[in-house]
Amino acid sequence: MDLVFRARRVITPQGEIACDVGVVDGRIVAVERHIDSPNVVHLADDEVLLPGLVDTHVHVNDPGRSEWEGFETATKAAAAGGVTTIIDMPLNSIPPTVELEALEIKRKAAANVSVDVGFWGGIVPGNLADLKPLHEAGVFGFKCFLLHSGVDEFPAVTTAELELALRELATLDALTIVHAEDAHTVRDAEPDYAGFLASRPREAENKAISDVVELTRRTGARTHILHLSSSDALSILEAAKRDRLPITAETCPHYLTFTAEEIHDGQTEFKCCPPIREEANREALWWGLREGLIDLVVSDHSPSTVELKEGDFATAWGGIASLQLGLPAVWTGARERDFQLTDVVRWMAAHPARQVGLETKGAIEPGKDADLVVFAPDETFVVDKNKLHHRNPVTPYHGRTLHGVVRQTWLRGKEIGQTRASLPQGKLLRRGEA
Ligand SMILES: [Zn+2]
Repeated sequence: MDLVFRARRVITPQGEIACDVGVVDGRIVAVERHIDSPNVVHLADDEVLLPGLVDTHVHVNDPGRSEWEGFETATKAAAAGGVTTIIDMPLNSIPPTVELEALEIKRKAAANVSVDVGFWGGIVPGNLADLKPLHEAGVFGFKCFLLHSGVDEFPAVTTAELELALRELATLDALTIVHAEDAHTVRDAEPDYAGFLASRPREAENKAISDVVELTRRTGARTHILHLSSSDALSILEAAKRDRLPITAETCPHYLTFTAEEIHDGQTEFKCCPPIREEANREALWWGLREGLIDLVVSDHSPSTVELKEGDFATAWGGIASLQLGLPAVWTGARERDFQLTDVVRWMAAHPARQVGLETKGAIEPGKDADLVVFAPDETFVVDKNKLHHRNPVTPYHGRTLHGVVRQTWLRGKEIGQTRASLPQGKLLRRGEA
């Protein structure tokens, strides 16, 4: 063994156990009661060993809007938050990842990464012929919007256009991920929070999700609902899953943490789309996780500059920066509701890895990459936006007390960022490559 991790609490697919985790050449090769080794990392009594998290919903915005965020800063934030793999969204960067050349440009921009990075492609009107080349070049699937995306260079598709794309992608067995809000139900936003919330009602999500379920049924393509906020749609997902349709759903830490009741006018750091809804909605989302109707929890890290995030709810950028905080935010809410760390790991590591077919990620078991997090679940900290690694110091978690401190993050058997001189050790991932 190159290295052995010894802990009283290790989160494995079989549950939480006391064991040794043996690593050779960056891979986990053994999970056993005791492994002899001269090179042992002893976890402290208050520490738990988790698999590195897999965050499949991150907007890095680089190149083109690198003043909003960049690969170096985003992946440093990820590592500090216990996230060892991110999959980058195809929009907010310029060019958007909707054809092969744009993917190559994006891969060049991601030269310095602290964690492993993969890429989504995009579906926009007129790029049907680009989907197969992007798929073959290793994107993990394709994102589309059913209403204005927020940036003009990534236009929405109609349901008819989406159906054509799904028919093409079904032949490739490629995954399609959908921003599901209905363009005809959403209205122009108003400056106060109540007005903003009313402009993007639950009905907009419910309608769009029904449409995606129907297209999934008709085409047989694999689909996924991004950032579910409307808990009304859980019954739609329940019916779709009962019919064994190949559809999954995610929600995000902010929908599980905050409530509309606590957001004051002018607090635009809370603006995101779909919006954060009422307390009863939040509790229903937790219920959806418990029932397995929501499969995964990922950040939707979508930062911008400080200036664009200011103003009122009609004009400010809609996006929340939380890549570094997803694990403690979700754990804080989970522990209050009697969930275990095994649940959090399932939602934030195992299921996201499975969703994108990353067979060597998301679990502590032989054959997986030694992507590991040393986590102190009972320690608390107060979030200070100025101490986070993402580029612009804005986050709605500022000032909030959270449970759970990430003390070390290891990628393929090496601790990230241990010395100032250490080189960024992340690599770029392609779908289907172990
Ligand atoms: Zn997003």
